[in-house]
Amino acid sequence: MKIDGKVKLLLVLIISIALISSMYLYKNNNKEYKELSYKTFLTYVEKDLVDEIELNDKAKIKGRLKDGQDFITDNPRTENFKEYLLLYNVEVLEGDRNLMIGQGISFTLLLAGIGVLAYLINKNNSKQAEKEMATMSKIDAEGSTSNRVTFDDVAGNEEAKDSLRELIDFIKEPDKYNKYGARLPRGVLLYGPPGTGKTLLAKALAGEANVPFYAVSGSDFIQVYAGLGASRVRELFKRAKEDGKSVIFIDEIDALGKKRKGSSASGGSEEGDRTLNALLTEMSGFKGNEGIIVIAATNRMDTLDEALLRPGRFDRQIEVSLPDVNARMAILKLHSKNKPISKKVDLKSIALETIYFSGAQLENLMNESAMLAAKEKAKHITMDHINKAYFTVLVGEEKKDRSSITLEDKKVTAYHEAGHALVAKKLCKLNRVTKVSIIPSTKGMGGFSLNIPPDRMHQTKKDIMNNIMIALGGRAAEEIILGTDNITTGASSDLQKATEMTLSMIGTYGMDEKIGLVNYNVILNSNLSTGTSLMERTKESLENLYIETKKILWDNRKYLDAIADKLMEKESLTEEEVNQILTN
Ligand code: ADP
Ligand code: ZN
Repeated sequence: MKIDGKVKLLLVLIISIALISSMYLYKNNNKEYKELSYKTFLTYVEKDLVDEIELNDKAKIKGRLKDGQDFITDNPRTENFKEYLLLYNVEVLEGDRNLMIGQGISFTLLLAGIGVLAYLINKNNSKQAEKEMATMSKIDAEGSTSNRVTFDDVAGNEEAKDSLRELIDFIKEPDKYNKYGARLPRGVLLYGPPGTGKTLLAKALAGEANVPFYAVSGSDFIQVYAGLGASRVRELFKRAKEDGKSVIFIDEIDALGKKRKGSSASGGSEEGDRTLNALLTEMSGFKGNEGIIVIAATNRMDTLDEALLRPGRFDRQIEVSLPDVNARMAILKLHSKNKPISKKVDLKSIALETIYFSGAQLENLMNESAMLAAKEKAKHITMDHINKAYFTVLVGEEKKDRSSITLEDKKVTAYHEAGHALVAKKLCKLNRVTKVSIIPSTKGMGGFSLNIPPDRMHQTKKDIMNNIMIALGGRAAEEIILGTDNITTGASSDLQKATEMTLSMIGTYGMDEKIGLVNYNVILNSNLSTGTSLMERTKESLENLYIETKKILWDNRKYLDAIADKLMEKESLTEEEVNQILTN
């Protein structure tokens, strides 16, 4: 770029004005800004904790939480960021609020200056982008030599670790599998709430296999200049292949692979689509003997484009859930290993009081405690430090009395989940209740998972009715324990499933004696107004099944109590533990 004299002069002018006004601002606005990671910021937005945001072009944006705390965070600089904020009821201030109330004149001048600068920068846009790409790809790779993370650094998450352990061998000795013509897995999707250790697990896989780890984030791809996402993907894979074996980690894959709404292209951004296609092309381009594994992570499984989950893509999906009390204990232990914790600190009681905390929050809790102790130059980290840190970690989150409310919540959830599990166990010996938990999971009914034997081609009417009753078991248990006035909203997705199942049983599969063999889609499409009788029958059938469900629970009340009690104590139960209770 050639800068002639006039522009130079202008630049000097702009810079001095900018300097003067920023000094002015600093003097007048020496507020405490809490730095939030972009991820934390997004969760705050979605929890409705963010009051306002000042949008600008800078690398950082400022805002205020509903509790009055000012913060700064990274500016994603995406096109639809504003719309996203507005959708979550965040007040969006354009430009810099401080400037607007501050110096009118310097603001105008600054604006003019920014205009000129923007013009100059724009002219240089592509060069800058190339430069950015080069620097970004430099920091992305972590060689196998840098501090190796292993599965020992991940506490809890046992199932996820087990699934990933199998892959170590694939990466280390791909030829062994090739000889037998086995198709190696290419992509693994880790899904679960933020801070549950997905990145850590991917890193640990690379560490265990002793190969380089490449990490990128889906949102990075979208933020760079148009057209660069796809070439960055190609660059990334090229470099990984040069290294031979490696683990490629793509965080926030949902930023690329958003479910397309409708058939028009307006669903995902075009840039996202292009980048995603490049990614899928690269993935199907492996010969399979290269020992490269791509791991993607998301906390929004529901918004993910199904194209990503097809065979040969991210066809292995592993849930990484919030830790239960034992896992929290293990995580706390791990993160207090190198800290001078007082002997009086009872990690078990902290584990009990941190229900719904993620691994990251637990790590943060121990870290904040250590910082408090350090500030006071205390000899040990005491319970007092930890209690103070507890509230720091929960800044911006609902300040509720941690013991009483969570206890009540725990009870409701425990009975709800126990209801599902018990009905499942009682109705059908073949149903395998694989896990019951009061820790929310990202998919399916609350914390309850069930494996219905899949190895049959046909579902019988009895199977469908059983499944409807299992779905109703949660609400039924709530009603029995809490009374009709105190049933909760916790059953909403159960009721949706139950209604859908009943409707198809009657209207699609011709399984209702009164409605007969009529297929209702056909009738409704022919504009005959006979929908009401179907609706009545669905309601009637659901009600009958609900009554039956409640009866099962009444008849087994002692088991219902026993499972719920155990759940309140341990938070999650394995199938053996449930069976154990039922044999008593
Ligand atoms: P995610 O990728 O799921 O958002 P991260 O892997 O980035 O979560 O977790 C952030 C930090 O939280 C980790 O670096 C680690 O310090 C801590 N952490 C989270 N889960 C665990 C766990 N299961 N065991 C130990 N530490 C954990
Ligand atoms: Zn439920």
